[in-house]
Amino acid sequence: MLRTVEITAELALPLHSERSHNLHWQKKLELNLDCFICGRTGRITRFEHGAELAVCTGDKRSPHPTAARIAGFDVTSRRDRLILRTVVDYWWAPFHDTERDRPATALTRAPWVRISAGYDCLQSHETGSFSIQSNQVRPVNEVCAHCAAPLATDARSPAIRLLT
Ligand SMILES: [Zn+2]
Ligand SMILES: [Zn+2]
Repeated sequence: MLRTVEITAELALPLHSERSHNLHWQKKLELNLDCFICGRTGRITRFEHGAELAVCTGDKRSPHPTAARIAGFDVTSRRDRLILRTVVDYWWAPFHDTERDRPATALTRAPWVRISAGYDCLQSHETGSFSIQSNQVRPVNEVCAHCAAPLATDARSPAIRLLT
């Protein structure tokens, strides 16, 4: 059956910044899902916006395509916040993970997501990126890898919510 998950994330922007780095969300993410195809719970699944398939990383040695996609990708840019609301659709069916001896759930038991942000450094004419993820120590102050200008503060864990 088709399941839909909403993920929201935000970065706090430094006040008085000149926004010289064109900070933006990159259109890809990693989300762990219970995958009925390989019969394993909590598999990291890689999504790219615009792709009709996602890739389940399986047991590392056997990644496989899966019917999952980014269905919505809405960015809100405020004076002091860069906000992302993304919606992910995926096919899910009940199964039992024999390796971990646990039943699959529509939203995996310990949801985890990684989202990336990119930037352009005008001073050095280089690009850079960093990622934010569930279960990391916060707050984290992100700075430009090239000129050390403050870019954003990662102060809040992304929220993951099963919609249907
Ligand atoms: Zn899988
Ligand atoms: Zn820079």
